Amino acid sequence: MSTGGRGPRIGVLALQGDVREHARMLEALGASVSLVRRPTELAAVDGLVLPGGESGVIDRLARITGLREPLREAIAGGLPVLGTCAGMILLADRLLDGTPGQETFGGLDATARRNAFGSQSDSFETDLEIPALGPPAVRTAFIRAPLIEELGPRARAVATLPDGRLVGAEQGSVLGIAFHPEATGEQRFHRRLLERVRAR
Ligand code: GLN
Repeated sequence: MSTGGRGPRIGVLALQGDVREHARMLEALGASVSLVRRPTELAAVDGLVLPGGESGVIDRLARITGLREPLREAIAGGLPVLGTCAGMILLADRLLDGTPGQETFGGLDATARRNAFGSQSDSFETDLEIPALGPPAVRTAFIRAPLIEELGPRARAVATLPDGRLVGAEQGSVLGIAFHPEATGEQRFHRRLLERVRAR
């Protein structure tokens, strides 16, 4: 599938998860959106969204479809990528509390912890000031969200909870956030991805 305008060609990894919401948001921003389910489709995009969902399932399906290695190589090679929630987990170089055998694609010098918020606050919404985006504050939705437990020297923090816990980081043109901007209508992260693609 490929839709939308004449803007940059952005893929949404469409193995599992909230693919449609990202595709809609990218289309609203004028991107030409395609769903990525196989290596030839990945090769045709200039930027990529890794959606939320179940990171263990997405990892497994990426192996089955032969996408895992091409994805790893594309990200390492500088493909601009936005990963949200499970997508952020998949971007982290190191993972805690993964499902048995689960691996990540890497790209962010960070350690992510899956399902880092206890069952009581499994899912919540909150407003976060994100200096890289400027005002207004970002309405964020955390849905069985991960945390960044540790950030390596190659990445930098982008989003932090009021108690100091890290929920977003960036490294070159790779951006990972633990929350769901597509669920709250927040467009600035997707705009940032498009800017990275245009700048490349
Ligand atoms: N808990 C999910 C995982 O481990 C992430 C949740 C989400 O993407 N909303 O991958």
